[in-house]
Order: sequence, then structure tokens, then C-alpha cells
Amino acid sequence: MEGTQLAGADIEDIFSRIIACVKTIDPANARKWFDELKIAEFNGGLLKVGCPDKTIVEFLNDNCKSSFTRAAQQVTGHLVTVEFCLFTTAKKPVQQAADGGLKLHPDYTFENFVVGPSNRLAHASCVSVSKSPGKNYNPLFIYGSSGLGKTHLLHAVCHETQNLNSKMAIQLLSCEEFVNKFISAIEQGSVLDFQKQLRSVDMLVIDDVQFLREREQSQEEFFHTFNALYQHGKQIILSADCAPVEIPSLEERLISRFTWGLVTRIDVPSHDTRVAIVQKKAHLRGIEISEQVADYIAKKAQLNIRQIEGALTTVYALSTTSGSAITIELAKQALEGHSDMERHISFTDITDVVTEFYRVRLADLQSKKRSQSITLPRQVCMYLARNLTRHSLEEIGGHLGGRDHTTVMHACTKIVKMKKKNTKFKTALSGLEKQITQPVKR
Ligand code: ADP
Ligand code: MG
Repeated sequence: MEGTQLAGADIEDIFSRIIACVKTIDPANARKWFDELKIAEFNGGLLKVGCPDKTIVEFLNDNCKSSFTRAAQQVTGHLVTVEFCLFTTAKKPVQQAADGGLKLHPDYTFENFVVGPSNRLAHASCVSVSKSPGKNYNPLFIYGSSGLGKTHLLHAVCHETQNLNSKMAIQLLSCEEFVNKFISAIEQGSVLDFQKQLRSVDMLVIDDVQFLREREQSQEEFFHTFNALYQHGKQIILSADCAPVEIPSLEERLISRFTWGLVTRIDVPSHDTRVAIVQKKAHLRGIEISEQVADYIAKKAQLNIRQIEGALTTVYALSTTSGSAITIELAKQALEGHSDMERHISFTDITDVVTEFYRVRLADLQSKKRSQSITLPRQVCMYLARNLTRHSLEEIGGHLGGRDHTTVMHACTKIVKMKKKNTKFKTALSGLEKQITQPVKR
């Protein structure tokens, strides 16, 4: 029955219904630009969704594959596989070669960044660096607490630099990626290749360099990479959660180099800036909200802007499922019980949820047991603690049976990989995250 219905219906119409459906089932990832997506191919069991650029293809592949598949099945009543591709077949081979695997978040652009007194200098220096890399501020060092926009700014510089000069070879790595790549290069005897690759870029961007602490060998390697790039006038951009001098056990010579250029701090945004950010984020998702609602959400997310995203998603989800407009009453209803959004998440919050989910005991997580049924929940705890608390790797390892920070790092990398490969696991994990960050009032 559905078959005939489908054949008769306008294919464009089906596609827009699929998009509308994705927005309801996956409000956290819904974006306004979903409306710009096009059908590249739709036959039998395959729907190919055409996207305007590579970052969007990657974003959708990483975050939205299952929701698009579910929506396509729901709307058509058929088993449909969804793939994402570029709708303009790559015309610019040069750019493809130059960006060699650069993975940017499509949301994290200058356009989507709200400038206010708390981040004005950091923003201005990033803009300046993308206009003339290697010239004005080298290195550029941005620091500030978690969730204040450091990663956003770093991605924005990369987007902008690439837009202005598609030939620039840019490398953007989290510090953990840098360390892991280096370690595996040592293991595989390919250190020279690693060095050659890193030292051949025009711009090196390393996020969260505080993770270099207590990693002597990586610090040494980083020091030489830094020197090689710096001497050739290549741009270096770094971020950390504290100022260079405050990074524990960072070598003196690195501290000094980190301060050769410009060091700028991002502060907690003012209420007005937060309101503007709420509006920007809502706009990005194609959601209309009033000044009053924006004001209310901004008040709810005081310290960390990341909470704004979660709050918006919750409000939007309630609005789509209940089919009502986003009024202040609806926002209050959606966020009720979240008044403690800014509360501190503790180890216990995490282990409570994880042990219940996996039906294991805390004592087992803290024991030396290494069976898979214990190891996985233990690694999940490490990953969640790393992402939801401000505890150091050492503290996290210490709490989970006296394990060292490399074990915690390894666990985080493993969980990230599993998340990418296994959608079921990813869903379970975000369920756990939600339970921890937005506990239902009992
Ligand atoms: P950090 O790397 O400092 O921990 P992120 O860059 O990951 O923080 O930012 C957390 C979230 O807050 C992201 O969704 C980001 O887009 C958003 N954000 C932070 N500052 C701003 C801003 N000034 N304008 C718009 N969004 C912002
Ligand atoms: Mg960050």
C-alpha cells in the first residue's frame, strides 16, 4: 500500500517530510541548514542526501545517520538506507589536497560566534590570525574554563583561513590526538613520517594543550615541532583551560614559547552575551524564540555555554512533540527540574548511573578485575568523568581503582572510537549522559 502511495507522491515532498521528521526525532542535531539538503539519489532502498560541503557530510555522518534512517523509514514505510554525499561533485581538487583530513564542525564559524566583552580580544585575535597567518600573533594562545568557546574559535579560524586561502595546509588536533599519534608513531617506528607531516603544515592548531602535562616525551616532541614551524613563520594556535604558567609540570621552555606571541583569556559571558548566544543557537536550528524565552534560558545556563545547547534541545523537543509554540510557559515546563543545571556533577552521579545501567557494582569498577563486563563500564565512567567533570585524568584514574592517567586517556579514545562505529552504543551513551546531566526530579 505504501508502495503506491510513495510512487504517487512528489519525491520532493517526501524528502521535506523526512527532514521534518528528523527534526522531531533528533532535536539536538537539527539545524536550519537541513532545509538546504537535497536528494542526490532515491531509488529502491537507498536515499542519497546531497550536502553543500564536506564539513556537513561529516557532521551528518557522525551524528545523524541513524535519525535520517529512522525518519526515512517512518515516512516511506520502507527499509531505506541513507547516505550523505556532496551535491556538487568536487570541482576543486586543490582544496581537497590542501585540507588533508581537516575535520571542522560546521556550526563553529565566526558567523555563529557571539562577540561580547568576555571574548572580544580572543575573537579579534583569531580573526586577525586567519587574515594573515604567521604574521601578527604567533603563537596565539587562548585560555579559559571549559565550555566558553575555545574549540569553537579554533575551528572558526580554520574555516576562515581555508575560505580565504584554500591552499593553506592546516592541521587541527586535540592535544590527546597529538599525543596518541605520536605514541603510535613511536610504536610503529614511523616517528620521522609523523614529524615530517606535522612540520609541513602552514598552520598548526592544538586544542587543550594542558594535556601535555606530565607527558615528557610528548612535550619534547612538541617543542621541536613548535620550533620548526615557528622558524619558518608558520602559524601556531593553542588553547588550554588555564594560562601557560598555570599548566602543571609543563617545561619552562614550552611555557616561555607559549607566551612569545599573544596570550588571551576568555571569561564567563555576561547575561546579555548569553542571551545573544541563545538566540544565535536557536536561529541556527531554525527555532523561533522570544526575547523572554531567550532570557529565561540564559539565566538557566549561568557558567557554561554548553548548557545552553542542552536547554534549547529540551525546549525544542517538548515543543515538537506537543505540537505547541515555544512560549515562556512551555520553556519553563521543559526545563523544570533543571534548575540545578549548573550544579556540580560528581563521580558518584556518574558511577550511580553507570553501575545501574550495566548492573555492576562500584567495588568491581574499582577492583583489578579486567573482564570485558567490568572493563567496558569502567571505561564508560572514565569517559563520562572526563567529559562531564573538571577532574584531572589522574583523579579520574585514582577514583577508579588507582589507575594511571594513560589508562584513562586510552579509555576515552576507545569510547570515542566505539561511539563512531556503533550507533546503538552511541545512543546508550548519550542516554547515560542525559541521565547524569539532567536527572529527573524524584
Ligand atoms: P571550550 O572548548 O572552551 O570548552 P566550546 O568551544 O566547545 O568550549 O564551546 C561550548 C559550546 O558553547 C559550543 O557549542 C559553542 O558553539 C558554544 N559557544 C561558546 N561561546 C560562544 C559564543 N561566544 N557564541 C556562540 N556560541 C558559543
Ligand atoms: Mg574545547
